[in-house]
This record gives sequence, structure tokens and C-alpha cells, in this order.
Amino acid sequence: MVHRSRFVAVLCCLQVVLLLSCSKNNEVQEEETSSATALNPILRTYDPVMLASPYGPRLLGGSYDFHSGVDMAHPTGTPVHAILDGKVVRAETAQPGSTLERYGQFVVISHDPFDEVELHQTVYLHLSETLVKVGDEIKQGDVIGKVGNTGVNINTEHLHFEYHIGENSGAIRRSNARHPLRILPYQSKSAVVDISKTNNELTITVVQVKSSMDLVSITISPMGHESKRIDFETLEGINKENVDVVPYQGIDIIPSPFNSVSSQMVLTFKVEGVWTDLEGVAVKLVNAKGKAQEFIHKFQ
Ligand SMILES: [Zn+2]
Repeated sequence: MVHRSRFVAVLCCLQVVLLLSCSKNNEVQEEETSSATALNPILRTYDPVMLASPYGPRLLGGSYDFHSGVDMAHPTGTPVHAILDGKVVRAETAQPGSTLERYGQFVVISHDPFDEVELHQTVYLHLSETLVKVGDEIKQGDVIGKVGNTGVNINTEHLHFEYHIGENSGAIRRSNARHPLRILPYQSKSAVVDISKTNNELTITVVQVKSSMDLVSITISPMGHESKRIDFETLEGINKENVDVVPYQGIDIIPSPFNSVSSQMVLTFKVEGVWTDLEGVAVKLVNAKGKAQEFIHKFQ
């Protein structure tokens, strides 16, 4: 059990390192490393989580899918720990045919206000076993259940984890889902961006290393044209009718295949338009820690 005193000690030891550098695309980078205050739900330590599937755009069974959480692949029976102190607000088995049928056995924990977030909850899906009940007061690090593959059409053993803000009653709404790397421990690293064009397609390729798949939003500003912004958290710029269908506002998103042994995640954004005379483009990325990376690319 990890007590509040340790929690505070970690906060006091927070180390922030900012690095500024320039690359060939006139990129200004900000890089931050910091100690985490929430636990890795599998390791029960502050070590970075190892993801088997990213938040936001991904491939699921070869098709485009917009993922509202992250996956951690571990064998059935692996203990799952609460990442912070809290109270169990849901612990149940979703019934086949219900809207949550893919959840299987799941737990939702509400947490005290933290880091200027008033209402927030963490969500743990596909459990093989649930070891808590509604109303239980939970300490950070307590075992709440075990990894499994419960839920309709869930074929692989993994923990699906979500982080919701603006809610702590256990209600599940996609609009509350935020990037889980806002809260889970990881080390932030800059993305690498490549920009190219043809006469009718502007292509931005974003490469993130596996340990830092933290992209939250992208703003694409072709010179002399309207900017377009896609935000995976607020769903700005995304097809809200069906988030699992691209293109979004003329931007096709092509995720690379990714699984537990992949070393990096590649997202390709293809913007439709007439780009024959385009002189340049600015691209801004914002990550789960709120840090921005900006790139300015001039075409010859
Ligand atoms: Zn998942």
C-alpha cells in the first residue's frame, strides 16, 4: 500500500528538463521528463507503462479505429492495481447486447481532485476477475482485479485503461475520455515529423517511439489556406457521427500496424486539396503533457 506521504514526496522531487533544439524542418522542440505521481497499474511502480495499442487512431483487425483508451498486453491473471487513491463507483460485468458489451468485467474508480482536475475517474476493462465492490475505499496500489479478455469480441488478453475528466460517478461518455498518458507514468519524447506534397495531397507523417505515444492534437496550416485542427480528446475536427470513419474534414489518417512488439507508431495524415503552388506548411503537435512541437516546412 502506498500512502499519501510518499505521494507528496514524489511531487516535491518533480524534475523538469526542457531542451530546445532545431532540426531541418525549423522545428522548435520542447522535451520534458518528470516523475509520475500515478502508478503503473500493472507493475505497481512509477515505471513507464508499455502500451500494446495507442490512444486515438489505430488499426483494429486491419481497419481504422478510434481508441478511447490504451491497452497493456499481459497474461490473464496478472494483478491490476489502482493508480491513485479513490473510491469504487462501478464494478460489474457488462451484459452481451448492452451498449458496453465489449467491456466485459470492469471497474471504475473515482479520485479526489488532483492537479487542478476536479472530477476524474479511471476505468479498467476486460478483467478476468474483479476484486472490489462499489463503495470500497481504495488506496493507490491496491489490487482491484486481474487482467483478462472478457467482453464481446475481445480476443487478446490485455488491460484496456481509460482516463475520464469531468466525471466521477462511473458514467461512461466518450466525450470525457482524455489521453491516458496525462495521468499514467511515461517519459515524454519528441515526435519526428516528415512533410511532403503532390499536386493534390499534402502528407504529414508523425513518428512516435513506443514509450511516448502521447499525441493529442495536430494543427495543419498550409500557407495561404485555412488551418485544420484535429483534437483526439475534444474530438474537434473529428467525424463525431462516427469517430471510427475517416477522412475527417478532408484529412485521411492512416495508422501503422502496431502491437506489443512494435517499436514505434506512425500516423500518416493526408490532406486533400490543390497544392500545386503551395509554398510551405506549418504543423503544430500538442502532447498529453500539454507541450507543443512546431514545424515549419518550405517547399522548394
Ligand atoms: Zn483497448
